[in-house]
Amino acid sequence: MIETHSAVTRDGVIGHDGSEIVTIDQATGAELAQYPVAGPDEAAAAVAASRSVHGSWWNLGFEGRAQRLRAWQREIARSGEEAAALIHAENGKPTDDARSEVLATLQHLQFAIGNAERVLGRRDLPAGPITGNQRAWVEHQPYGVVGVIGPWNFPLMTPGAIVINALAAGNTVILKPSHVTPGVGEWLVQTWQRSVSDFPAVLQHLNGYGATGQALITAGLDKLAFTGSVATGKTVAAQCAQTLTPMLLELGGNDGAIVAADADLDEAAAHIVWGALQNTGHGCISLEVAYVVEAVYDTFVEKISDLARGVRVGSDENAQIGPVPLPTQIGIIRDHIQDALANGATAVVGGLETVAGGRYVAPTILVDVPAGALAAIEETFGPTLAVVKVADTEQAVTQVNDGPYGLGSAVFSRQHGEAIARRLRVGMTSINDALVFSMNPALPFGGRGDSGYGRKHGDEGLREFAYPHSFSTKTGPARLSSSTFDRPAGAMKAALAAARDRILAADDTRTN
Ligand code: NAD
Repeated sequence: MIETHSAVTRDGVIGHDGSEIVTIDQATGAELAQYPVAGPDEAAAAVAASRSVHGSWWNLGFEGRAQRLRAWQREIARSGEEAAALIHAENGKPTDDARSEVLATLQHLQFAIGNAERVLGRRDLPAGPITGNQRAWVEHQPYGVVGVIGPWNFPLMTPGAIVINALAAGNTVILKPSHVTPGVGEWLVQTWQRSVSDFPAVLQHLNGYGATGQALITAGLDKLAFTGSVATGKTVAAQCAQTLTPMLLELGGNDGAIVAADADLDEAAAHIVWGALQNTGHGCISLEVAYVVEAVYDTFVEKISDLARGVRVGSDENAQIGPVPLPTQIGIIRDHIQDALANGATAVVGGLETVAGGRYVAPTILVDVPAGALAAIEETFGPTLAVVKVADTEQAVTQVNDGPYGLGSAVFSRQHGEAIARRLRVGMTSINDALVFSMNPALPFGGRGDSGYGRKHGDEGLREFAYPHSFSTKTGPARLSSSTFDRPAGAMKAALAAARDRILAADDTRTN
């Protein structure tokens, strides 16, 4: 039996004794399913099985792997409604939002199938200036066994895109889904095992709490891709440091939206309200703070308040946002609202009464939030938006860049959107829209600062799961013989003099 540990699991959803996970249907609160918790023995067995098939998976080559990925894509497409129902039940989000996770997963598969060979395949390079007798090339080769530890907020799309990147690059993968959404992780792996019957061990899963994640890392990974909170990210980074296991860290955010004086305020309000409240605000790239210039502040607040009041909360088919599936998150949302109010903010929509009890939290719009309040600095991860008044976009850029995170962002301006966006110390920016960078599988996704490092999605996401292996092969005798002891006397002095003359001559040409 595994001991669960409150310091590392942020548990609170489900009663458990550590040997099993009991999930609940978020719409009804009724028990949904039970999953055995994997411990060190299961983790070691999964890593051994993964390692035993890694060589043959890599030897398939890009086209052989693409064939299997296409079969998997067909299986996910066929049974997508099943996944949407499971995501709706375990996570609580509206079924249409769950469907969009399936759609995104299919699109990431399409990108990986179509691009892995172009990005990672052999690339011939020119011979170096003193190595003219060599042929040079680079290949991107897989790490081996990759562990993927995932969160509950986008339980299919978030770990799914990473799993796809890692598999397409030739790695084998073991997924440890969040304990809140173990069924979704298991479903993803079962679709693989149903559709790629000649390589079932290439993608496996282990269910459990934080201790299972620790056991997976301890079992000996060649790379870890972790998605979750900053606190857990630092814990797993410290664990990986012991073995120098390379990592992709996709952590939290406190994304800011900047609204300039020349913004289309109707568009800005519609996108920001959606960007803040969709998925009940449970998005690493959810918009958490709007920095609005004084000149348009009052009009903007009026517009977002009207829109936020109309957002339907619940679990029926008309609901636009669902419950908060992790009870401990409700305390964080309440603390942030309380702190903002105590520091002079006003709740123009919602407020403390929306987090008074139960699993449903209605939208809250906090205005006149001071820049130092928790809601303006830390990740709230709930259906809230903090509105901060700024003198100009210059001040807004400074405040975004002063924060500890650096994940996504949004800029609303008719004339200066791109210029403002390029100055933000973040990984991603939507201009005159919200969150859309995450919907394009070609765009790399990841953060800076406390939001982590490394990238998923796009070419960078494929390269994240492969390391460059450089090759140089001799094709004939060397002019300089720079790599043996029988180098002719004076050859290196002549080479240095020739390089000097060439460089200085080129410099002269430029400055004349
Ligand atoms: P969390 O840190 O509590 O848990 C994440 C995962 O880590 C879970 O599977 C958990 O069981 C596991 N875990 C916990 N302790 C561990 C340990 N010591 N060793 C190994 N694994 C351990 O986070 P969460 O509440 O599941 O997810 C929400 C967080 O994830 C938010 O901060 C959100 O912003 C972030 N997130 C980031 C991205 C991104 O791409 N940057 C995407 C989605 C979510």
